[in-house]
Amino acid sequence: METRKLVVVGGSAAGAKAAAKARRLDQKAEITLIQREPDLSMASCGYPYYVGGVFNDRNMLLATPTGVVRDPAFFLKTKNIKALTETEAVAIDRKKKTVTYTELKTGKQNTIDYDKLILCTGAGAALPPIPGIELDGVTTLLSMADTDYLRKVRDEKKITRAVVMGGGLIGVEACEALKESGISVTLVEMASDILTFLDPQLAKLTANHIKSKGVEVITGTGIKAFLGEAGKLIGVKLQDDTIIYCETAVAATGVRPNVQLAREAGLKIGELGGILVDEHMVTSDPDIYAAGDCVEIKHLITGKNVLAPMGDLANLQGRVAGENAMCGNSIVFPGTIHTSICKAFDFAAGSTGLTEKSARENAIDNIETVINASPDKPGFMGAGLLVSKIMVDKSSKRILGYQCVGNGDVSRQLATAAMAIQGEMTLDRLVCADLPYAPPFSLAIDHFIASAHIVENKLKGRLKTILAEEVYQKVKSGGRQPLLLDGRGPDEYEVLRLGIGEKYIPVGALRVRLDELPADKDAEIICFCKISMRGYETALILEDNGWTNVKVMEGGIVAWPYEREK
Ligand SMILES: Cc1cc2nc3c(=O)[nH]c(=O)nc-3n(C[C@H](O)[C@H](O)[C@H](O)COP(=O)(O)OP(=O)(O)OC[C@H]3O[C@@H](n4cnc5c(N)ncnc54)[C@H](O)[C@@H]3O)c2cc1C
Repeated sequence: METRKLVVVGGSAAGAKAAAKARRLDQKAEITLIQREPDLSMASCGYPYYVGGVFNDRNMLLATPTGVVRDPAFFLKTKNIKALTETEAVAIDRKKKTVTYTELKTGKQNTIDYDKLILCTGAGAALPPIPGIELDGVTTLLSMADTDYLRKVRDEKKITRAVVMGGGLIGVEACEALKESGISVTLVEMASDILTFLDPQLAKLTANHIKSKGVEVITGTGIKAFLGEAGKLIGVKLQDDTIIYCETAVAATGVRPNVQLAREAGLKIGELGGILVDEHMVTSDPDIYAAGDCVEIKHLITGKNVLAPMGDLANLQGRVAGENAMCGNSIVFPGTIHTSICKAFDFAAGSTGLTEKSARENAIDNIETVINASPDKPGFMGAGLLVSKIMVDKSSKRILGYQCVGNGDVSRQLATAAMAIQGEMTLDRLVCADLPYAPPFSLAIDHFIASAHIVENKLKGRLKTILAEEVYQKVKSGGRQPLLLDGRGPDEYEVLRLGIGEKYIPVGALRVRLDELPADKDAEIICFCKISMRGYETALILEDNGWTNVKVMEGGIVAWPYEREK
């Protein structure tokens, strides 16, 4: 058999994975990896933690799990892959099946033949055209060079103030990294909430946590200009003309697929700006594959194309492209459900499937949601808090989305939910799902399963709920107020309370204190407690005693994202 020639353009997550997979399937093929940057297989997801000093050895960003740096020598010796670094692929001739590349150090151009080509060109910064964005001191956090710059900022300790523009995953991680470097940080997000992969209540809870760590969080206004003196950043001007002085700014306003090479080669580009591929990761040319941040993929719930620039997906797609290039389109990458997680100090926030906002944007309205709050394990095992939102299709009872935030084991909750969503599990199966349980790890009824129980109760009409936001609006409006009934004990009230005019009757005392409640049995009564478990018990007692308009505030006090008295 003739030696096959595989060329891979882009040598980080998707590209390196595709090349390595191809090698495992064909020991004889000529495999060449063309990489513009000096490094290969960079762990971009680890950049913020190197900047923030979680680890100090830069090589850890480039190493295998066993600590071997993945440089060209490693690729050649271990994998027999020729990795050309600091080399840019500049043109593809699809008729001749060649790639022209430039050696960036010398400017020399060469051409290489391919039988199969895999494009893994990633994504670049999507920077808004803001005056001053080119000033010295404004950076992104997308490359090793950016990471080296920000790590220097940490090590030199000269810079004391920073602004982060954009409250997405990278923006939030950049805030933590800078704050942990002793720098005062302001996060500016133009949308009304940070982390748009969350619905507002959970996003606000995360923002509150970030604020509690000393980061100033400004939402609902953007940066109008970066201000400089002698070419150096000295501050930013917000849309309302507020000036925030700072010596560095991280622009974290998202990424856009790198498709110039593909576009110039005449490959089809989708409406969202990514390279179009089928489920085998084949582009509009059967001999060219593409994978990672540069492609559009299918959303498994909506069926629409989406951009999903995530490291896990880049690796999974690279693996599929590498295998198919060698074995003839034998495996598929079905798509994404947009699963993501982000660390914010000792807190995590993540989402899988659709949010309520994205469901409604896709005209998926026949849905039920529940916000649930609980510890992740028993208190005697040092529990962390979880606040989550589950979303179910009312007809099929399929789980469509799940979000979770807190300082408990958020990742496990999301992983469980992601598998339930991808497995198209329905509520009736979920409510009795067999998950691992022992006190060091979870509650006997795991938080995720409890969320399924609550939403089932709601769908069966056993539980009427109200969201914190609606309660907040009622209180703020100053109109006719409902009775807000906190069912906790007095000791708890001393340490944590909303202070919105609530009445305290511990649930244990309620049956003998019913005479303190409105005589009008149709009066609106909103019950809650710390997590609204006792709020639910309270509501059941009231309904049993004839009150008809009783609701439970979802998630209780810990899911209340607005200011509290205590
Ligand atoms: C700070 C940060 C944190 C992140 N955190 C997470 C996380 O926690 N979880 C998660 O899932 N994802 C995370 N991501 C996203 C994840 O890193 C990306 O989705 C992933 O790296 C994409 O891999 P890729 O191979 O498609 O593209 P890239 O990693 O961008 O690699 C593409 C490579 O191709 C090269 N290239 C482009 N054009 C050419 C050309 N013409 N010739 C030669 N070379 C070329 C580029 O130089 C680049 O090195 C994070 C990203 C960043 C920056």
